[in-house]
Amino acid sequence: MNLSKFNQILTQTLLLPVLALAFVAGILVWQVRNAERTVSAIQASGESIAAATRAEKLIVDEETGLRGYQLTSDPRFLKPYRDAAQPLHAELDLLRRNLIAHGESTRPVEAMEAREQLWRVSFADQVISTIDGGGDTRDTTLNLEGQKKLDDVRTGINDIVDRETALRSQEVGRWRLQVRRTIEALIVLALASGIFISVFSLRQLHRVSDAYQGTLDGLRHHAQATFDSEERLRTTLTSIGDGVIVCDPGGCVELLNSVAQELTGWTQNDAFRRPLEEVFHILNETTREQIETPVAMVKRLNRVVGLANHTVLVRKDGTEINIDDSGAPIHDRNGALSGIVMVFRDITRERRAQNALLATEKLAVAGRLAATIAHEMHNPLDSVSNLLYLLRGEKDPNTAEHYLTLAQQELTRMGQVSRAMLGLYREAKNPVTINIKEMLDGVIVLLERPIQQRQLTIETAIPDHLEVHGFPAELRQVFTNLLANAAEATASGGKLILAARATSVKTLSSATAHRGVTIQVCDTGSGIEPEALEHIFEPFFTTKGELGTGLGLWFSRGIVDKHGGSIEIHSSSNPEDHGTTITVFLPHTGPATTQT
Ligand code: ADP
Ligand code: MG
Repeated sequence: MNLSKFNQILTQTLLLPVLALAFVAGILVWQVRNAERTVSAIQASGESIAAATRAEKLIVDEETGLRGYQLTSDPRFLKPYRDAAQPLHAELDLLRRNLIAHGESTRPVEAMEAREQLWRVSFADQVISTIDGGGDTRDTTLNLEGQKKLDDVRTGINDIVDRETALRSQEVGRWRLQVRRTIEALIVLALASGIFISVFSLRQLHRVSDAYQGTLDGLRHHAQATFDSEERLRTTLTSIGDGVIVCDPGGCVELLNSVAQELTGWTQNDAFRRPLEEVFHILNETTREQIETPVAMVKRLNRVVGLANHTVLVRKDGTEINIDDSGAPIHDRNGALSGIVMVFRDITRERRAQNALLATEKLAVAGRLAATIAHEMHNPLDSVSNLLYLLRGEKDPNTAEHYLTLAQQELTRMGQVSRAMLGLYREAKNPVTINIKEMLDGVIVLLERPIQQRQLTIETAIPDHLEVHGFPAELRQVFTNLLANAAEATASGGKLILAARATSVKTLSSATAHRGVTIQVCDTGSGIEPEALEHIFEPFFTTKGELGTGLGLWFSRGIVDKHGGSIEIHSSSNPEDHGTTITVFLPHTGPATTQT
């Protein structure tokens, strides 16, 4: 039920009774008009009767005056006779006009007037002139005749009066009937409209109350649904295994679920309305610099963001845990930012497991290199002891000098190998500047022997000046892995290439290009099958059975990521043109502090 329908019902409820009452009023007005017309007809009849009565009285006056003059011959008696003529004429005129106005015939009035005229002319005026001439007017025949003429006039008037009286009583009867009818109509209409209005209003009220009930039910339903969904969300939030913090658009904490309370060490009450940075204090694991919170990033970028790797959360009690987190904006219906939700989880155990795996991989590399190293050490030692033996019996100082130079070279090489070996394991605490050529040379020194044994050639194209910022032992390990993989995949007579150059690349997370170094490790080996290519960065994926750990590439990608770089692989197992190229990009800046 919407508002317009509600209004429509209300309008109907008010309008229809008003219309019904207006109809009743119309009928009543019509009835009253009819009655008024009847009343004015009655009044007209009354006036006509009155005029006729007055006319009759004037005639009586005329006769009385004439009779007095007949008896006394005193002209003063004639005054009523003479005075009556004018008013009589006026009364008859009035009577005539009345009759005309009510559509009645004036003929009786005219007939009566004519008779009166006749009485005056043929009797009264003669009697007067006879008396004036001193004659006698007591002639019975004449008087009877005069009497008769006047009776005719009276009869005429009486007829008019009778007619009007009959008319009047007829109108009165009609008026009574009308009044009765009006009253009856009034009662019937009042009853009918009363019943109609009550029934109609009742129906409308039912409709309104139904509509109201419907709306109420709808609202109740909505409220219940909202409550249910809120309850569901609350249950989801509290039972979710990850920490969830909800912030207002200003970045102040509104809600922490139980996991978030446990991980941060803050209770909901303590954290409520505090700035997120206070409750959720995060640092970069390696640089110890404070990291922008996901909420601040969401506010800045207004989109879902993930956190950089290697994030440490400092709990309220000062202890630290490794976390992985992300943030997402909450938008209201108009698309405005109404809050930010942040999800994070404790990855300390994962990190420990990862570290254990890394250690395993390091050990595996060491194991695999052990034989090489033993050779590397054994051969120069052999040479040196042989040279020392020769030197002991040598008399020629030039030859002795030559033996010493050779022994010196062998010892230098041993020094290189042991340094390269140590370089694999000794890690700097903080990122340092690394010369790419120096680092890659160290890698080659360690792998030179296996490469020679496999009868592979290695080409290098590494400029002197290239530098990046980072952890040297980790990067050495990366390139040792890549070069070892390349050597292991290549059959005897094959070729390896190690090349580096300065580049700048664009990454998805940033609009500006990153300047850095691209290092490529190419081989003419077997190549990687497309099915295997999908999995090679997964831990424990190996095609080397007992000889492989499947951790090399997984580890390498982790290290390159940590340095803010990228690693790509192109491989072909096509018999005509097989081989693999691995391209590593390392930015100058080194390990990132924050990245999405
Ligand atoms: P592992 O060397 O212990 O097997 P890696 O993670 O280093 O583990 O390599 C995973 C797999 O990727 C290897 O087993 C191999 O099948 C494949 N692979 C890596 N590098 C190359 C390469 N240069 N040529 C061919 N296959 C390669
Ligand atoms: Mg490997």
